[in-house]
Amino acid sequence: MKISIDLKSGDFAASPKKDIIIGIDLGTTNSLVAYIQDEQPITIKSQNGKNSLTPSVLHFTQDGQIIVGDEAKNYLISNPDRTIFSVKRLMGKSYEDVSKLKSSIGYEIIDEDKDTLVKIKVDDKFYNPVQLSAEILKSLKLDAEFHLNAQISKAVITVPAYFNDAQRQATRDAGKLAGLDVLRIVNEPTAASLAYGIGLDKNAQFNIAVFDLGGGTFDISILHLEDGIFEVLATHGDTFLGGDDIDRAIIDYWTQMNGITNDELIQDIELNQMLRLAAEEAKKTVGRLEIFSTKIRSLELQLDDKQFETLIDPIVTRTITSCQQAIQDSGLAKKEIDKVILVGGSTRIPLIKKRVSEFFEQQADDSMNPDEVVALGAAIQADILAGNRKDILLLDVTPLSLGIETVGGLMDAIIPRNSKVPHGAGRQYTTSVDGQKNLKVSVYQGERDLVQHNRKLGEFILKDIPPMAAGLPKIEVHFMLDADGILTVRAKELRSGVSTSVEIKSTYGISEEEMALMLIDSIKNASQDVERRAYLEAINEAQNVVLASDKFVIQNANILTQEETIEIIRLNSNLKTTITTGSKDDIENAMKALNDYATPLAHMALDQNIGKALKEVSVFENEIGSS
Ligand code: ADP
Ligand code: MG
Repeated sequence: MKISIDLKSGDFAASPKKDIIIGIDLGTTNSLVAYIQDEQPITIKSQNGKNSLTPSVLHFTQDGQIIVGDEAKNYLISNPDRTIFSVKRLMGKSYEDVSKLKSSIGYEIIDEDKDTLVKIKVDDKFYNPVQLSAEILKSLKLDAEFHLNAQISKAVITVPAYFNDAQRQATRDAGKLAGLDVLRIVNEPTAASLAYGIGLDKNAQFNIAVFDLGGGTFDISILHLEDGIFEVLATHGDTFLGGDDIDRAIIDYWTQMNGITNDELIQDIELNQMLRLAAEEAKKTVGRLEIFSTKIRSLELQLDDKQFETLIDPIVTRTITSCQQAIQDSGLAKKEIDKVILVGGSTRIPLIKKRVSEFFEQQADDSMNPDEVVALGAAIQADILAGNRKDILLLDVTPLSLGIETVGGLMDAIIPRNSKVPHGAGRQYTTSVDGQKNLKVSVYQGERDLVQHNRKLGEFILKDIPPMAAGLPKIEVHFMLDADGILTVRAKELRSGVSTSVEIKSTYGISEEEMALMLIDSIKNASQDVERRAYLEAINEAQNVVLASDKFVIQNANILTQEETIEIIRLNSNLKTTITTGSKDDIENAMKALNDYATPLAHMALDQNIGKALKEVSVFENEIGSS
């Protein structure tokens, strides 16, 4: 063992400081950094802020400097074109993915190239989300270095459970750019569980619900812990639901009460700013006071508990609906959930805690600071990686269903959403046209019944299928999704062995906004989709009937009378017309008319054909016999 002596004092020198690994919660609204001190995780206060929360906001000053945090937040309303917020929403996204966001932000997003990552323009300079996130991380790193009086080079960073590969990679890159070696990307709900001490005992088995309502996003994750492994059983949420919506609801209420129009609010930046600050203050205090009141200019603004709860009721209800969905997806019963954890600043609102507890039929735990838990858990994960605790693994799930387009533009899901990865699954298909040589396989991701509403991931063609009658080829389409979220699709015609496969990076560029919207969409449009699906199925069936009737008339020309042939052709062409112009009922009626008329004829034809076939056999036998 080596002992060092401080030559100046003659004392034994303190043992050289161990490498400190920090834990970072890189949030949409606020970011935090934490580390382990005396075996306990603690958050670090920002150098110039009042507390440990650093608003995830950047401001570009006129002289080209970048400021981060509380100071930058002051420019949000007065200087929207130079003040960037919600960078997290842009991580790992192409312009296409975020174009929907454009209307809600004051800064400029550039669409030079639809397939590459988005860029943000300030003055005549371009920045990508990775660079901007790196600025926030740099600021946190500096805070930690200042506080610890040590150089920091290693970190664990958290991301939402629904973040895909591209988003995780972008987060990792931002860390690198900030001079941090990112040892691990950890799911936020996992970090929150660790902060509550769940997962530190290797023998424990737990089901955990993590309810996270932040500034602009909401998610609920159901985790299962076993053998020191956290598995995300299900995750659901809304990437456009959070504290900002609560502030807006209060502002709307006040402006309505005082007859202030939206235009006036847009014109009057100062009033807008003051109302926002007052609304945020009101929501934080109203639960604790009888009534909140303040004065802005000549306006007397008030908010009481009852009114507040009425205002936020729709918001709370939306989060509970997501919980319902997540529980359903997880395959667990509510009573199997061992613990419910509240995360995110907005869960401080008493009504939210009450409603979440009611839903899960148990008291939701908020004994730890809800806006610090994720960072604290990240610090614990960092400690585990530093070798101070035992290791913990993570499994993942695929957030959206993966499938292919079938006849009529219908989505046929092969790997359903929330399947654990790696995951392999296959299904058999056939052709719809005689002698079909090529089959296009189009791969989609999403929950809607029609592929046009889902996201196309790619397509390829299975070529050189030997000519066969429609319905005869057996085409197996097989999906393999590996642990990194990379999808390989293989199509094989089993009779001939012709096969093609293609690798599709399933998750590249998909936005969580889009993902959330797709999920919401699928719920909203469920009944409409069912109708549409029934309509398309009727068309498919009718087309088959048309083809079959055409064939029937040709094949049985010598059996059918001229009258019968004409009637079948008439009913068939009537059906053809309704396919293009009629409703589902029209199509079904036309199909029924044709079927009713043709079925007895088909039976008759069948009898005659069988008779004829039997006769042919006997003739054949006779011939043998006679020879
Ligand atoms: P994110 O994870 O999105 O970065 P946070 O977890 O930091 O966000 O939550 C920020 C939100 O929490 C803001 O909308 C803020 O107004 C809200 N918030 C913070 N404290 C309270 C409180 N006491 N009551 C209600 N809302 C609060
Ligand atoms: Mg958060």
